[in-house]
Amino acid sequence: MSYKILVFVKQVPDTQNISGDAMKPDGTVNRAALPAIFNPEDLNALELALQLKDKYGAKVVAGTMGPPNAAEVLREAMYRGADEAVLLSDRAFAGADTLATSYALSCCANKIGKYDLILCGRQAIDGDTAQVGPQLAEKLALPQISYVEEILELSKNKVKARREIEGGYEVVEAPLPALMTVIDANEPRPAAARRLMKYKKARTPFELSRDHANANYTDAEALAVEQENLKSRGLLITEYSASEVGADIQRTGLNGSPTKVKKIQNVVLKATDSKMIEANEAGITELIHELIADHTLG
Ligand SMILES: Cc1cc2nc3c(=O)[nH]c(=O)nc-3n(C[C@H](O)[C@H](O)[C@H](O)COP(=O)(O)OP(=O)(O)OC[C@H]3O[C@@H](n4cnc5c(N)ncnc54)[C@H](O)[C@@H]3O)c2cc1C
Repeated sequence: MSYKILVFVKQVPDTQNISGDAMKPDGTVNRAALPAIFNPEDLNALELALQLKDKYGAKVVAGTMGPPNAAEVLREAMYRGADEAVLLSDRAFAGADTLATSYALSCCANKIGKYDLILCGRQAIDGDTAQVGPQLAEKLALPQISYVEEILELSKNKVKARREIEGGYEVVEAPLPALMTVIDANEPRPAAARRLMKYKKARTPFELSRDHANANYTDAEALAVEQENLKSRGLLITEYSASEVGADIQRTGLNGSPTKVKKIQNVVLKATDSKMIEANEAGITELIHELIADHTLG
């Protein structure tokens, strides 16, 4: 038995390096201004999928919703072992909150189809909501197991996983297909040099036509031949627009987002802010009152 595992990964701004122009005037993230990285817990989700591939045999498909340059995280997923990659990219997805993101990803999962497992990271380091995985499971009517550390058993119809809970863990079983959100409880394997050499040439159709345009190639036939050539070598990254996954654009992007991110800023605590408090009840009470007063708490 071979399984099909979808891993949804997110390209995130490196929140360690938030700069002044991180936000656009319309309240959406200015992704071009920030170094982009692979969301850390999505590397753990990918690693879990690859461990299942090693142990049981599986095809691992990495998918992401994002602008054209999000294809970079898909290449990185293939360097580490993913077999195929799908980019969901369309202006209609821009500015999506978690509701709109999970809806778009559900359309993508339905388009890819016939999956046994969907793995997501527990949380993205930019939005930090941990909402997309559970929302996606809801939209696909899938059983979900969140905070997964390890998969203990996988068989034709069910999966058994160990998940983290406060102060310990629990073992949960679910019928397939199922969705899991994965925590940083494994050591993601590095990119393999042989795979890097092969998949660094992987391109989306958009990137291919952009490369052609940049090289002033205008021969559409040559472009089509090259696309077929990449496809035959497993180097063509599938690219879907909103209409290609049957998404209702009233439910995607800013249109489909009841939540708007008003402002983000870097909170840098300076040493001057520190204050010694009495290590007793009165000291703690005074501290809590102060934190409530300046809206750090509550
Ligand atoms: C600072 C900030 C605050 C925000 N606050 C909110 C908020 O309060 N409410 C809200 O609705 N939106 C919020 N957003 C928008 C939110 O970031 C986006 O909706 C985002 O696409 C999904 O939410 P998340 O980043 O919290 O992801 P999470 O829900 O934390 O992501 C969990 C997992 O879902 C998968 N996933 C998430 N996004 C994608 C993607 N684009 N492609 C593939 N897989 C993906 C990954 O596996 C990821 O590990 C915020 C954005 C920013 C930058």
